Amino acid sequence: MVKKIAILGSTGSIGTQALEVIDKQKDRFKIIALTAGNNIELLCSQIEKYKPEYVCIQSKEHVNYLQLKFPDTKILYGSNGLTEISSLNSPELFLVAVSGKIGLEPTIQAIKNKKNIALANKETLVMAGELVMELARKNNVQILPVDSEHSAIFQCINRRTDVKKLIITASGGPFRNSSEEIMKNANLDETLAHPRWKMGKKITVDSATLMNKGLEVIEAHHLFNIDYSSIKVVIHPQSYMHSAVEYIDGSIIAQIGIPSMHIPIQYALTYPDRVQGIETESFDFIKAKQFEFYEPDLEKFPSLKLAIEAGKIGGTATVCLNAANEEAVFAFLSKKIKFLDIYKITKLIFDSYTPIKNPDLEKILEEDIKIRKLTKEIINKGKI
Ligand code: MG
Repeated sequence: MVKKIAILGSTGSIGTQALEVIDKQKDRFKIIALTAGNNIELLCSQIEKYKPEYVCIQSKEHVNYLQLKFPDTKILYGSNGLTEISSLNSPELFLVAVSGKIGLEPTIQAIKNKKNIALANKETLVMAGELVMELARKNNVQILPVDSEHSAIFQCINRRTDVKKLIITASGGPFRNSSEEIMKNANLDETLAHPRWKMGKKITVDSATLMNKGLEVIEAHHLFNIDYSSIKVVIHPQSYMHSAVEYIDGSIIAQIGIPSMHIPIQYALTYPDRVQGIETESFDFIKAKQFEFYEPDLEKFPSLKLAIEAGKIGGTATVCLNAANEEAVFAFLSKKIKFLDIYKITKLIFDSYTPIKNPDLEKILEEDIKIRKLTKEIINKGKI
């Protein structure tokens, strides 16, 4: 059986690794649609290789060029193009691998269309977890986690009624053992030098502040319908254990393996089957030697605490958290602010915000725009 899939974000870190997985399983998948941002060169080579029926790019600029070059592919652009792709009937599975809030609306559209989702975009659940999961339940849609921690939990969880606790592991990022002085002056290269995982820039910065782990706790709360008090974060620098589930009888089932995104991506694409994949090397327990675990330092990494607080408040509190953090990270990436300012700005915005309970999609998007505008204003004024 050939599975027809659409990949939103095909030139990003998850998108390219998904295509590597697909290359190993050529007779299993057919690519119907690809979407990308500005990496036109890589997109061209992907269109040549996978011959998708539809492609969507960010701006109108390259549409004519691509349409002339690939007359058999329909070239779309912008948010309308993304809506058209997420409304397509032929794909059975949508891999949502775009970064940031841009993933939310297409995911909702595809769920409404009863398409299964392989979800690599955590902002979708951080911004609108209740709404998205409710919609998925109503439409009998599977949300298959791609994030390595959530894939691990998904693989370990069977009867949810017996679950006592989720244990989410974190590598601790590049500043786990750094002094405050080093973090204060951390430049872009130091921040982007993640010790274990190679990922996109936004998520790598989030991993350095541990905001990423906080967003993952919110993601896990929605995906697995588990109370925040039953989710525990542990620092595990080796990243061999990708997360675990503790059951009421005290048994803990953990998912362990080499730190490779190919494995969770592949499991989401081939679910419920497991296939021999791209990683042929077995995990070697003897060579691994150390499995260390530590309590996260919430004083040094207050973003994790703030994210869990936002999750517990619920409503649009997590919309605020996500929007303020994302804008602050963008400002850091464009060297407008310093590393420790990311948290300071996010906290400042968060503390001055009054969350709204049970928001609909329109309200979520409205609040998101409002908070981003406010965050940018504060950054541009240099008032931190
Ligand atoms: Mg993760």
